[in-house]
Amino acid sequence: MTTQKRIGLIFAMQEEQTGLSQHLQNIEKIEIAGRHYLKAKFQNQEIVSVLSGIGKVAAAITATTMLNHFAIDHIIMCGVAGAADASLKQGDLVIASELIQHDMDASPLFPRFEVPLTGQTKFYSDPLINEQLKLAARDFLKSSDRFLKNQIKTGLIASGDQFISDQIVLNKLNGDLPGLLAVEMEGASIAQVCKAFGIPFSVIRTISDSANDDASLDFQEFIRTTAAPYSIGILSHYLR
Ligand code: SAH
Repeated sequence: MTTQKRIGLIFAMQEEQTGLSQHLQNIEKIEIAGRHYLKAKFQNQEIVSVLSGIGKVAAAITATTMLNHFAIDHIIMCGVAGAADASLKQGDLVIASELIQHDMDASPLFPRFEVPLTGQTKFYSDPLINEQLKLAARDFLKSSDRFLKNQIKTGLIASGDQFISDQIVLNKLNGDLPGLLAVEMEGASIAQVCKAFGIPFSVIRTISDSANDDASLDFQEFIRTTAAPYSIGILSHYLR
């Protein structure tokens, strides 16, 4: 452990970080609790990058372990998400200003979505990092000629241990959570861990699917060929 602060990067799936290793220098691998933490330099910036695996528990183990073992300044989670806002299409980017665990329901003891005994329903990411990520995303899209094709939206992201691929389920979530932009399976869990540790964080994701009945079509291929280069391109601009 050193005293120099690093940026923690978390990806849920291997495909989401395709090509990342080519951008890293001075890589040191540390295995803890079945995760491989890569301590390295990315654009001359000290980072720790790790694959969490899918779902809220996997993400919580990973973020907790990262914050306990490395001096982390802030965490950025990158990856893909399903669109909940109907104006979002594959390749658009979403940044979470707030996150909610859509499968948390201890009602009637606690209000629906509230994490019991915390008084908290939504978890808030860091506005400054969000703004810097948005600028980085814009620069990346401009540099890759996709500026007119892909939108960038900031707002509510909901996480749960469920791959949403059903229009009826999606409609219900949209009804329960006004302003919902996207659904995924890890962000709100990392948000809760970061809140407990007092560490700022952001979540930025590329829309991979429409969270409806077509959600699983070409999913893997899109992540490898488009979403991963987007995340890595945006991070490169962000770290500059
Ligand atoms: N890799 C699996 C499925 C991945 S689960 C497969 O073999 O098909 C989906 C992953 O992408 C999760 O890490 C989640 O955060 C994100 N994701 C993308 N679209 C999603 C959706 N519609 N619902 C929930 N999570 C989604």
